[in-house]
Amino acid sequence: VDLARSRLHEFAEQSTERHLRLAVTGLSQSGKTIFITSLVHHLLHAHRSGSLPFFEVAASGRVVSSRDLSTASEHPFPLRQALAGLSQDPPQWPESTTGLSEVRLAIRYRRPAGLRRVLGETGTLYLDIIDYPGEWLLDLPLLEMSFEQWCEQQTQLFTREPRAKVAQGWLAQLGEIDWTAPADPAVLRRLADGFASVLQQLRTGPDGLSLLQPGRAVLPGEYAGSELIELFPLMIDYWPSGEVPAGSYLDLLRSRYDQYCEQIIKPFYSRYFSRFDRQIVLVDCLKTLNRGEACFEDMKAALSAILESFNYGRSGFLRRLFAPRIDKVLFASTKADHVTANQHHNLDRFLELIVEEAQRNIRFDGIETRSLALSSIRSTHAAQAQMDGQVLSCLRGISKESGEEVALFPGEVPTELPGADDWNEERFRFIDFAPRRLPLNDLEAKHHIRLDQVLEYMTGDLFR
Ligand code: GDP
Repeated sequence: VDLARSRLHEFAEQSTERHLRLAVTGLSQSGKTIFITSLVHHLLHAHRSGSLPFFEVAASGRVVSSRDLSTASEHPFPLRQALAGLSQDPPQWPESTTGLSEVRLAIRYRRPAGLRRVLGETGTLYLDIIDYPGEWLLDLPLLEMSFEQWCEQQTQLFTREPRAKVAQGWLAQLGEIDWTAPADPAVLRRLADGFASVLQQLRTGPDGLSLLQPGRAVLPGEYAGSELIELFPLMIDYWPSGEVPAGSYLDLLRSRYDQYCEQIIKPFYSRYFSRFDRQIVLVDCLKTLNRGEACFEDMKAALSAILESFNYGRSGFLRRLFAPRIDKVLFASTKADHVTANQHHNLDRFLELIVEEAQRNIRFDGIETRSLALSSIRSTHAAQAQMDGQVLSCLRGISKESGEEVALFPGEVPTELPGADDWNEERFRFIDFAPRRLPLNDLEAKHHIRLDQVLEYMTGDLFR
């Protein structure tokens, strides 16, 4: 009987050993690298620090041990380097995400009392956390478009500001080419490089645009230097009216587009995306409020394009590409430490409004979603200031730009989406901060904002 019982336990143990592939994405600078670094650091200390009070399995002392198994991964996330920089004095923000990488953890936990007899004393959750650029998701809509349709769409974008001005010189170069003449790949390469640098300027310039395609021209990942990403749209005014001769510039460009769809976009979805169980999408709402209307509107359009990847309901299109698995998506507004604590609720609500608008034509069939404001590494603390006899809550931190300590009242996060009139220059003043040192040991809840709630929402049900 004993033998049978222990076999039964062994079986239960194995059959309830769980795996979760949790993906983290967001546009560049949204805070992915720092989020993963901090989240994993807190998780690896969950059995001995009290830094995650709202993560039930940790708070109730049920985490037995957490191990980092990332060395077994093909693309390990640079956790050590990031932690080294953040824990040194003065601390430094790490290098941002440029491609796909992952952390693999094994978390051993004690089961809740009621389940121990049936399932065994302890269980193990194998948690893979995958980091990849949100820019890559912007490519999905290309699969549903011909090259000509994509060019039409891009022509519309590039005839309007702020794109038109930045791209002016490059657009003029397109006009110098006979697109029906036999193609010289070196010329296409030069134009593709030129287009990539236009995209970079749009991204890092004052408007900080987000809706930039093709995504691999912005962040090539493993395709850096490959001919496959030497791709750009040909503005529709330059399209010849008749046949496109085989071997011509336009013909070559068109076949590049098809290759890009077949050899880059589709494999990303079938090899990686289709294996994600849950997804976190990070959004930097405050940056868009700072930068103004063009940045904000463009970010909303980009988020809409990103959400297409979770649009399992509307058509059979995604289902033909892969069998969807994602059952939960969390939208998180990062850098909540840029605002005072009484604004966190507004930031939750603000992100919710953005997501609602972006998902207007999208149905998250079978996907549960939630919006939440967080800070991965809390780098400010609350302070109070007197103004005109009133006490105001403000923030204290080290400015990222000047390196000086500053105390400021950063302004309120609106509870409605801003309209055209709301974009006056003085309204939002959220500045970037240098990191507060993240200790290698003795982690506390004050080092982050709501990472524990993220963990509870994304993984809590698996620690049973
Ligand atoms: P990625 O491009 O999505 O990987 O973005 P990163 O994780 O590299 O973050 C980009 C920048 O955002 C960092 O250099 C920081 O300046 C800022 N940042 C990210 N997370 C936080 C946070 O929790 N608090 C503060 N104050 N700044 C943050």
